[in-house]
Amino acid sequence: MLRQALLAVSKSRRAERVIAASPLTRDVVRRYVADDAGAAIDALSRTGLRVSVDHLGEEVTGRAQAEGTVAAYLSLLRLLPAGADVSVKLTALGLRLSEELAFEHAAAICRAAAARDVTVTLDAEQHDTIAMLHAVHAALRKEHRDVGVVVQAYLPDSLDRCEQLGDARVRLCKGAYTAPGAYTSTADIDRSFVRCLKVLMAGAGYPMVATHDPRLVRIASTLAVLDGRDPAGFEYQMLYGVRPDEQARLAALGFTMRVYVPYGADWYPYLMRRLAERPRNLAFFLRSLLSR
Ligand code: FAD
Repeated sequence: MLRQALLAVSKSRRAERVIAASPLTRDVVRRYVADDAGAAIDALSRTGLRVSVDHLGEEVTGRAQAEGTVAAYLSLLRLLPAGADVSVKLTALGLRLSEELAFEHAAAICRAAAARDVTVTLDAEQHDTIAMLHAVHAALRKEHRDVGVVVQAYLPDSLDRCEQLGDARVRLCKGAYTAPGAYTSTADIDRSFVRCLKVLMAGAGYPMVATHDPRLVRIASTLAVLDGRDPAGFEYQMLYGVRPDEQARLAALGFTMRVYVPYGADWYPYLMRRLAERPRNLAFFLRSLLSR
């Protein structure tokens, strides 16, 4: 219930104006969103963590805005070390205007990223964009084999997706939105996550295990051993500001740990999704508002 309400609020421009206008929100934003992307990337890289950087923004409705997103990624790419990744939302590249436009914009980012030895991963967003996401991903892969894509385990067809993705780089996550027909119980989502993980770990691609869930992290490590995948053959991913000790622990064990680093002014929907994931975060948020 609370999750649904927060996700609904994440789409409300009116609520955004009220929440974003409060100077008290800043501390909470800072927990999840890098204030200074360059400094955050340097600090994480120094401790042996990889990054996937997200220029925040989504659901753009104008061509100029979409071009602005491309320009922001081209500037970002100039800052990133080799081996970094950028996470890109197709709706920030104009997917709502046309699939072709989003493809052209994503292709421009892929070309610039390849020149810097940086990979690109396409985030998965609202359910009505998923078919287009996979169409754009497949088209991009004709020229950029290593472009990655996200699969959301809460979607009942996620297992088929994993099977179809063959040798691709695939980030598996639980799913941060809502979708008709999606699994909603923790048990169903976790079971789907494990089914997908089995296919990805046994497959020919590069699995990116995006979860903070300790049980799923353990299952991923076990499957990697059973499938004879060495630690360079897959990676863990977690969000900036979430379980940093676990991020450091997995990196110290020799696993590739990549931290998803969002930055930029358009943080509101991203923050609301993080609050929706965990009711305790909402309590933290409200406490920080009230304690001023
Ligand atoms: P949960 O069961 O939600 O959490 C397990 C434990 O992790 C919790 O008990 C808590 O200790 C900790 N935790 C989890 N979330 C938080 C939080 N917000 N704040 C504090 N602690 C927390 N979703 C999409 O729909 N599309 C995407 O493209 C996408 N990309 C992602 C990329 C990365 C690298 C990651 C890590 C997640 C991504 N997600 C994406 C979000 C994902 O779908 C989940 O909503 C999110 O990761 C929470 O699920 P969980 O697997 O961590 O498990």
